Amino acid sequence: MSEQEHHLKAGFETRAIHAGYEPDPTTGAVIPPIYATSTYKQDGVGGLRGGYEYSRSANPTRTALEGALAAVEEGERAFTFSSGLAAEDTLVRATCRPGDHVVLPDDAYGGTFRLFDKVERAWGVEHTPAPVTDVDAVRAAIRPGQTRLVWLETPTNPLLNVGDIEALAAVAHEAGALLVVDNTFASPYLQQPLTLGADVVVHSTTKYVGGHSDVVGGALVVRDLDLAEKLTFHQNAIGAVPGPFDSFLTHRGLKTLGVRMDRHCDNAEAVVAFLAEHPGVVEVIYPGLPEHPGHAVASRQMKRYGGMVAFRVVGGEDKALAVCERAQVFTLAESLGGIESLIEHPGRMTHASVAGTALEVPADLVRLSVGIESIDDLLADLDRALG
Ligand SMILES: *Cc1c(COP(=O)(O)O)cnc(C)c1O
Repeated sequence: MSEQEHHLKAGFETRAIHAGYEPDPTTGAVIPPIYATSTYKQDGVGGLRGGYEYSRSANPTRTALEGALAAVEEGERAFTFSSGLAAEDTLVRATCRPGDHVVLPDDAYGGTFRLFDKVERAWGVEHTPAPVTDVDAVRAAIRPGQTRLVWLETPTNPLLNVGDIEALAAVAHEAGALLVVDNTFASPYLQQPLTLGADVVVHSTTKYVGGHSDVVGGALVVRDLDLAEKLTFHQNAIGAVPGPFDSFLTHRGLKTLGVRMDRHCDNAEAVVAFLAEHPGVVEVIYPGLPEHPGHAVASRQMKRYGGMVAFRVVGGEDKALAVCERAQVFTLAESLGGIESLIEHPGRMTHASVAGTALEVPADLVRLSVGIESIDDLLADLDRALG
């Protein structure tokens, strides 16, 4: 067994740290260097060293990250992009043609919905929204012969709805479509959709994979080698790739994903327990709670329940806004998945664009991305913010 093959059979944290890279043969560098180069010397015309020709096509810093991502998702190949949305757009162009159709979560990430609604639709790719929690509704939304992708997010944002990956993979495959799972909220540490029958995993690596709120990026991971070949072509032909600095930061984040996620989950569980007892809170939404409608499915397909928590406050929208503004350790900001705790008001911030539609979120809802700070400080901050 080569060292790389050994890494691929190893445990999650070992793969996250070692897969995709061997210490550099010339210098012994333990960590992949930041290869700040656009082009590569050829040994005679077409004599490429290690296949490197031009950094849109491949760059060693990016190759190392892609190897590690494929290993942690238990895929064959991973492709990285300059953002999560760039990954999604490349996937659509590689798999859909004008006249094709996609089933989307009815509470899809806003940027994903906008991509399909405002961009892909203009190029002839239509979409139908369906709730991720309802397998029959997803089946009914499929247009036989026309639907190429069934798109799933689980858990969703901000209401943390849970979709059954295995069941939806079967529904997609019955119709000859691919199941795409946006695994951003769970991260590969908590959930590996390819092992449950999904065909493509999408990530905004901006969130938990990068994990430090210092880099924007995206990824696609697949098992099927024909699909991998199409993605190789489109990644290079479209060119929305991350640079070597971004690849380095994302890879650095990935190495500690396991320990970070366990702390995110520990802290989220403590926050949930605290909020559930707080008189200023109407309802806590977290898939780890037995009363959450997706709890049974989440327990089957996730290792733990993640770092995202939503709750509704007594006192309506004004109180929800005040809680967001009074918090001090929780930073008032959009995005999620970093080591620092964030708080936001979905109705006025991340989900303002769906106000007045079926996707409108409750006005008294607050969303937390629970970070890895000292738990006592997080609880004291929430207590103070709730007044
Ligand atoms: C942030 C996010 C995206 C988009 O990723 P970017 O890196 O911001 O382009 C897609 N899906 C989910 C679930 C996200 O949270």
